[in-house]
Amino acid sequence: MDYQTIIEPFRIHSVEPIPMTTVAERSDAIRDAHYNLFQLPARKVMIDLLTDSGTGAMSRDQWAAIQHGDESYAGSPSWEIFESAVHDLFGCAHIIPTHQGRAAERILFALLGGPSKIVPANTHFDTTRANVEYTGAKAIDLLCSEGLDPELDAPFKGNIDVAALANLLEHNASDVPAVVLTITNNSGGGQPVSMANIRATSELCRRFDVPLYLDSCRFAENAWFIRQREPGYATKSVTEIVHEMYSWADGMTMSAKKDPMANIGGWLATNDELLAERARTMLILTEGFPTYGGLAGRDLEAIAQGLQEAVSHDYLQYRIASTGYLGNALDAMGFPVVRPSGGHAIYLDARRLLPQIPPLEYPGQALAVALYELGGIRGCEIGTVMFGRAPDGSEHPSALELVRLAIPRRTYTQSHIDYVVEVCENVLQVAPSLRGYRITKEPPTLRHFTAQFEPLAH
Ligand SMILES: *Cc1c(COP(=O)(O)O)cnc(C)c1O
Repeated sequence: MDYQTIIEPFRIHSVEPIPMTTVAERSDAIRDAHYNLFQLPARKVMIDLLTDSGTGAMSRDQWAAIQHGDESYAGSPSWEIFESAVHDLFGCAHIIPTHQGRAAERILFALLGGPSKIVPANTHFDTTRANVEYTGAKAIDLLCSEGLDPELDAPFKGNIDVAALANLLEHNASDVPAVVLTITNNSGGGQPVSMANIRATSELCRRFDVPLYLDSCRFAENAWFIRQREPGYATKSVTEIVHEMYSWADGMTMSAKKDPMANIGGWLATNDELLAERARTMLILTEGFPTYGGLAGRDLEAIAQGLQEAVSHDYLQYRIASTGYLGNALDAMGFPVVRPSGGHAIYLDARRLLPQIPPLEYPGQALAVALYELGGIRGCEIGTVMFGRAPDGSEHPSALELVRLAIPRRTYTQSHIDYVVEVCENVLQVAPSLRGYRITKEPPTLRHFTAQFEPLAH
């Protein structure tokens, strides 16, 4: 028997209350927050889809691993458990724990970057880009053309444009200290990268003697997409697919707050012994001794256990199907969304939903506020508010006006998601009456976190 309902492959062991609020209470709360969802107290949010980073539910076995943690400063047994879990899955020779992903990026690019250097990627995540640029190097995105079309249904929209990369390496290989593939492509809609693309990128990198690093936050979701969509992988285990993915890489950065199922943590791993030695010296300066990085022994154990759970087929089947369930329901009711559904998030297309609101009146912000007021749902604007202010002070429309609904791992059930769908149906109906916003106050950089807004009159 093949049943249609994909049930959560877990039952609830410990619960957290969701504070219920009314539309009137939420209207007051969002006004007090100057219409900025980052400024809302979390207790005023019913369904929090701001991010999938560090917001997942740990398992019974991870909580047990926390109790098993050993806090010895050097050479803790928790470090041995962590190191062998990471090594068994990814095979990298040198593993360097950090407090989260960006700390690994900071160390890696401090060693590889510098003025006149160029770091190409499919798409740099924003902290990766910031850490590359902070060293004076240039971060460039070479996403495949399919990835640029939000309405196109293609299996691997996270792929790098191999021809463009070849062209860059032919002319500038000596300025390229590393190539980065972000798997899945977070900033590009959570879209996967195919094994063929990883292999082709690796072969190209080896030809030019440039190392390939995988920004690995959603490695397990990416492996599941390969298993589902790429010919030849349907009968392989996710662990086998992960082994093959990393056989093509020279190193990795990781945020353990994503697929490794922890609330904090990360690491840098590399096969380059000299680089590892220099990285450990930097680690001691800012993160901690090399057998704990910025983490407690108990965190290392929670990550080691989380890695085993992340590659479970039952979990990944549920994870990808449940994200797709939201995307398909919205698509079916005519709510404009980025296709196909990503692994960790659904992206609502505010430009298509709210054509009456011009980009500089922030349609994504208008949609995000409406979702909150009408349903207590917190998403994240990814559009002109986030990207519209240039370093020279000028303002321009972003390429896309999206609202990201990121799904925390193992946290919400199908009824929560059915509720999100119902709220979106309501938003779809009132969409023609929604109005834009103007910014009344903003900081010089990263304005989306703290900017203050005011609704525009009809
Ligand atoms: C979250 C993330 C990072 C940064 O990790 P943090 O743990 O938030 O510092 C880097 N790259 C990608 C693709 C991410 O999603």
